[in-house]
Amino acid sequence: MDTDCIFCKIVLKQINAEIIYEDDNVLVFSDINPVSSIHKLVIPKKHVKDIKQIDDVGIIINIFDVIKKLVDDLQIDNFKIVVNNGDKLQLVKHLHFHLISGDKVTDKLI
Ligand code: AMP
Ligand code: ZN
Repeated sequence: MDTDCIFCKIVLKQINAEIIYEDDNVLVFSDINPVSSIHKLVIPKKHVKDIKQIDDVGIIINIFDVIKKLVDDLQIDNFKIVVNNGDKLQLVKHLHFHLISGDKVTDKLI
């Protein structure tokens, strides 16, 4: 855990978030500033800065297991997974997978 990290604080329930899924390794909550009607953040509970800092790639399996459950539960067929990496792109320096779907992702940009 990183005591200065806002997502670690969400993991520790020191600050509030709309948590929609939790297990031993993974937490999912709603993005506070959604870019579309469905915008969730899927994070490892363990503090890892970005993809380059992952020491155990098993966490990626855990995360994608959860993403698969989530899109089934939310009944979403069209969605994007976005991962920003590095100081220039990442606002929050705790690895997170944006799951974005709904009204604003009707156009295929990439
Ligand atoms: P990134 O630019 O990939 O680091 O994105 C960080 C995301 O975290 C942004 O979409 C923010 O809206 C979101 N965010 C920041 N603080 C919180 C918070 N306390 N609860 C939920 N989402 C947050
Ligand atoms: Zn953290």
